[in-house]
Amino acid sequence: ENQSATLLKQDYQAAQELYHHILMRTQLGETALNYLHQRQLTDATLEHFQIGFAPDQQQMLLSFFQVKQKETSELARSGLFTQTDEGKLLDRFRDRVIFPVQDQSGDVIAFSGRILQKPDPQRPVGKYLNSPETEIFNKSKTLFNLAAAKKEIRQQGEVILFEGFMDVISAYQAGVKNGVASMGTSLTEQQVYLLQRITQRLIICYDGDAPGLKAACRALELLQSTSLEVGVVILPQNQDPDEFIKSQGAQAFSQLVHHKSLSPEAFMIEYLSRQYNLNNDLEKVDYLNAALAYILPVQSPVQQELYVEQLAQHLNLPSSTIRQELQEQQKTKK
Ligand code: ATP
Ligand code: MN
Ligand code: MN
Ligand code: MN
Repeated sequence: ENQSATLLKQDYQAAQELYHHILMRTQLGETALNYLHQRQLTDATLEHFQIGFAPDQQQMLLSFFQVKQKETSELARSGLFTQTDEGKLLDRFRDRVIFPVQDQSGDVIAFSGRILQKPDPQRPVGKYLNSPETEIFNKSKTLFNLAAAKKEIRQQGEVILFEGFMDVISAYQAGVKNGVASMGTSLTEQQVYLLQRITQRLIICYDGDAPGLKAACRALELLQSTSLEVGVVILPQNQDPDEFIKSQGAQAFSQLVHHKSLSPEAFMIEYLSRQYNLNNDLEKVDYLNAALAYILPVQSPVQQELYVEQLAQHLNLPSSTIRQELQEQQKTKK
């Protein structure tokens, strides 16, 4: 690793310690600490993830580094600052809760910052703000919590993929410690590659809303060509894992993840059923054909039968009818 990268990592480490100190032990962090406590995070969890707070000041972090006599060019390429037209550096993260993001060796390489307020659709400020890509941070090769969870993932032979940081953190606090999240983007091939090296099984646990289901569907497509065994958890409508844990409890969540995940085929039958108006006969036929496309290639007759039953229930038709249709389509395929 080159010297410039080592310096940037030191800067991120120092910034993380400062932000964490501000959150845990200063008056500046009080509102943010209350916010996180309100979201039911314990101090032990805040310590574990080294969560911090960047106060609403233009040059707090900058002054901190200037006292350490850091070179401006280094600070400029760190991604920790934005630059005005006149070349003045300003703290990038202001008035945000700071989630540190580590690379595979556990070094901090980026932050994600969340606003304390409910997102306001009128204001153009994003709920989360990520560090920009730098020489140490490549978003598509990074998974939040991978370094810390690696041992747990190996031990359990399984990784759980979440959408958000708060989902990983909430699950951790609920005792489910093998979770990771991509950085607010869809899963990439490089991230899958990293996971494949340490585990055989992956459970997708995205938000229970339409975007979450769609993202799961896309992730499945990407995972199809890998050796990973995949399961998908569907959460109740409009809950994400964090909200589910809060309303149903840690045990219910653990149950859901470990005993109620669907195979990719079962997920697709369920997912597709929500894309059609099943009160309309024409749409029913479309759904039938779309779902059969996933059932046709299934080798095991037992599994195929289970999917036929699932599909029959959605269509409110006798399973014998679905089976006939499946056999017809199998014939014409040959
Ligand atoms: P919270 O519970 O704090 O509201 P969340 O994780 O439930 O957060 P979602 O809206 O479900 O947030 O988004 C999932 C993930 O997508 C976030 O954790 C974050 O990584 C990313 N994300 C969400 N909103 C933004 C945004 N405005 N800009 C960049 N990334 C975002
Ligand atoms: Mn979401
Ligand atoms: Mn969410
Ligand atoms: Mn959430």
